[in-house]
Amino acid sequence: MITIALTKGRILKDTLPLLSAAGIVPEEDISKSRKLVFATNRSDVQLLVLRGADVLTYIRYGAADMGVVGKDMLMEDGGAQLYELHDLGIARCRLMTATKKDQAGIAYQSRIKVATKYVNIAQRYYAEQGVQADIIKLYGGMELAPIMGLADEIVDIVDTGKTLVANGLEEANFIADISSRLVANKASMKVKHAELKVISDAIAAAVSE
Ligand code: AMP
Repeated sequence: MITIALTKGRILKDTLPLLSAAGIVPEEDISKSRKLVFATNRSDVQLLVLRGADVLTYIRYGAADMGVVGKDMLMEDGGAQLYELHDLGIARCRLMTATKKDQAGIAYQSRIKVATKYVNIAQRYYAEQGVQADIIKLYGGMELAPIMGLADEIVDIVDTGKTLVANGLEEANFIADISSRLVANKASMKVKHAELKVISDAIAAAVSE
């Protein structure tokens, strides 16, 4: 059995057409189901639908052979023990810092507070910038933190920027371009090499089309 872990949400929506082009189609409509594991048209392939961070954990421990995850999750995780096979070019967005409107560009006098779910990325980024930052871990709704005085700025992914604007924030500094990646377990790539290579090549071909 080949197990492919997919990240739920907007990444999943863009992943399914690539999987379908590679000849893998779930047996039921994932968006209409509460299930977490799905059979496919191929009796030897099953799909898991998880949060991005959990996709990496499943693949790392070999509970999934390969999967699709945002580059933001890989950067935060470090990606040790995993192969990053292909850039799928889907769910593109940017990892940015953001502040309250009209505050971007104002130089900081002392330590700042930064709210984010990307603690490791933020720690690295501010250290590289030579900015002393206390990182505050949040699990969602980062945009609220500067408005409520919890933090001076946030680190989050931004697509259209509408969510920032709706919450009185604006983009400040660019950290990285993000898109989704095909990732594999190292041992699986040895043991199931032929089968995984066929799938990974077919997905890569669908991407370049
Ligand atoms: P935006 O289009 O900038 O208003 O983005 C809306 C929200 O969706 C943001 O708060 C992000 O956290 C999230 N988001 C944006 N792009 C992506 C993406 N490619 N994958 C997952 N979440 C995203």
